[in-house]
Amino acid sequence: MAPRFGKEKVQQPLDERRTVAQIQSRFWAFCLRLDFPGRHRITQMQLTDKFGRQITDVRVSITDRCNFRCVYCRSANHENHMAHHELLEWDEFERLVRILVGMGIRKVRVTGGEPLVRPGIEDFITRLKALGVHDLSMTTNGYLLAERCDALIAAGLDRINISLDSLDRAKFERVTRTQTFDDVMAGIDASHSSRLRPVKVNAVLVRGLNDDEVEAFAAFARERDLIMRFIEFMPLDADRAWTRDLMVPAAQVYRRIHARWPLVPVSHERSETARKYRFADGRGEIGLIAPVTQPFCGFCSRIRLTADGKLRTCLFSKDDHDLKFLLRNGATDDDVAREIRSVVEEKEAGHRINEPDFVPPSRTMVYIGG
Ligand code: SAM
Repeated sequence: MAPRFGKEKVQQPLDERRTVAQIQSRFWAFCLRLDFPGRHRITQMQLTDKFGRQITDVRVSITDRCNFRCVYCRSANHENHMAHHELLEWDEFERLVRILVGMGIRKVRVTGGEPLVRPGIEDFITRLKALGVHDLSMTTNGYLLAERCDALIAAGLDRINISLDSLDRAKFERVTRTQTFDDVMAGIDASHSSRLRPVKVNAVLVRGLNDDEVEAFAAFARERDLIMRFIEFMPLDADRAWTRDLMVPAAQVYRRIHARWPLVPVSHERSETARKYRFADGRGEIGLIAPVTQPFCGFCSRIRLTADGKLRTCLFSKDDHDLKFLLRNGATDDDVAREIRSVVEEKEAGHRINEPDFVPPSRTMVYIGG
């Protein structure tokens, strides 16, 4: 019997945690309205939502541009990119991350679009590291990674996630609509032989497209001694082609791999997106990310910053919140922190993909940042 990923660990109902957290947050909201001398310290306090979830991770999308057009993410049709002046400047990103670090953010993941297409990324990583970010990572399609790996490490990058949706060259080209298979493999090799750890390789499984490769991906993890993660396809694609039937449930992936190579659970933090397993008889690890069939929202510790400076409390948020406007209109750090705190307080209980009235967000993954 395959384990239920994640859900079994939700011990305390959100409603119970909400009561205590609501009292706390109302108190702090009241204090924030007062202009007393300790106010500054309050804006530096940890970020917690009304359900008592502490927010410690931010995903920063630094561009909406990508050099791939993965079928489950972008459209083959023309898509509009945001004008350069709409994107945050590096100084603005740095300022927001500094404020967030002051509020207890420990993990920062730089993403996009494709983060390596924006010039200056290495310098930005250096600046983030200097802010004291405890865990600094990046998600990339790997195309430009081999040539940039050393510079990213020198800048302070701790770890990396690389997307790879097929081990078959022809299929890889169909999925990404590029001819970059060798470059991506070289990127994986370069990071694997560097000191970036862990190296995680992510595949989004789409039924009929790459779900025949589950065992091949697992064998790849074993051969290369890396972490292969399988992500359930989510309704965030630009073509709006997602259906539940196209999604491959993590439990099926688990059963198939476990039948071939017995798996042993690996402990993980409750807020982690992946349920992790090692192979009983060898090297490598797999991670199952099941946002659709086993949502992990109850322990979510993440917020997202889009390339145009919008704060999102969930991938599936209906609204995002404009921090760029504050930055560009004279707001102080305390003003920005106060806005972040009030937005985070209202973070959604969960993503509602499985609710009958679910409506996908207007922004798709490439604009939100995965
Ligand atoms: N360009 C980088 C990359 O390819 O990894 C970073 C951005 S990409 C949007 C971030 C992650 O989102 C990738 O792991 C990608 O596979 C995932 N992703 C994109 N669309 C998705 C979807 N509809 N469902 C699940 N994951 C998706």
